[in-house]
Amino acid sequence: MTPAHAKLNAVIGFPLTHSLSPEFHNAEYAKRGHDAVLRAFENEDLAALVQILRTEKIGLTAVTLPFKEKILPFLDELDPLAERLQSVNTVLQKDGRLLGFNTDYHGIAVALEGVELAEKNVLLLGAGGAAHAVAAYVNDMDGTLFCLNRDPARAQELVQRFGGQSIQDPAAHDFDLIINATPVELPLEAKYLRAGQTVFDLIYNPEETALLRAAKAAGAETRSGRLMFKAQALEQIRLWEDLVLNS
Ligand code: NAP
Repeated sequence: MTPAHAKLNAVIGFPLTHSLSPEFHNAEYAKRGHDAVLRAFENEDLAALVQILRTEKIGLTAVTLPFKEKILPFLDELDPLAERLQSVNTVLQKDGRLLGFNTDYHGIAVALEGVELAEKNVLLLGAGGAAHAVAAYVNDMDGTLFCLNRDPARAQELVQRFGGQSIQDPAAHDFDLIINATPVELPLEAKYLRAGQTVFDLIYNPEETALLRAAKAAGAETRSGRLMFKAQALEQIRLWEDLVLNS
């Protein structure tokens, strides 16, 4: 039960079985002394969920699959990064207005801290919502992006929007950095992994995926999606504190 006076926040998605957001946010609110609780609202009907956000005056909503793009038409305003990515993973409600943000990009930047990208060959596996944020980041950092996706047409669309080239054969180039933005735990044969590479898996549950285990075995440096998850969640909380709680 939510205490009557506690501020209510939400995570929305379908399904929500793997979400770590309630556990992470609630522990962080307790640490920071916020009288607030984040609850999971699992529903296939996005319009019904948005109605709940408005009627319950929910200040912060974490948005996950499959709503990051679908929620855009329901919002009153988008920040420039969310507009550029056409993807929202955070909704703040201020004075009855729903404002959309994207903290995935920040999470990617934190997870890849210290990894040199300029003029490095980067293989991006996947072309969905999270891959769009990765592609924007890699191109902003002057990396040379190669996108490989199950549906090649989506890889083509991604590189047209953010730069880089789509490929269908991972043997065609040598990669300094490999990034998995699919939900598949071993999306690439281990023969493409080597020492001197960095391998970043966006999957955050489990913390160490089959891809990261194979990368370690090959002598590559690894970055877990858990780093990204924590950084994007902390950024959600920072935005909520700055723009809703303390304004
Ligand atoms: P999405 O928009 O649904 O995109 C999924 C991508 O994976 C698409 O490119 C899809 O290819 C590909 N894919 C799906 N199933 C596949 C399969 N069986 N074989 C090959 N490719 C497959 O999902 P998303 O939001 O981008 O999320 C992608 C992953 O990133 C998920 O695992 C998610 O949990 C993770 N993620 C992590 C964080 C974090 O904080 N660590 C944040 C966001 C997302 P098609 O285009 O061919 O369908």
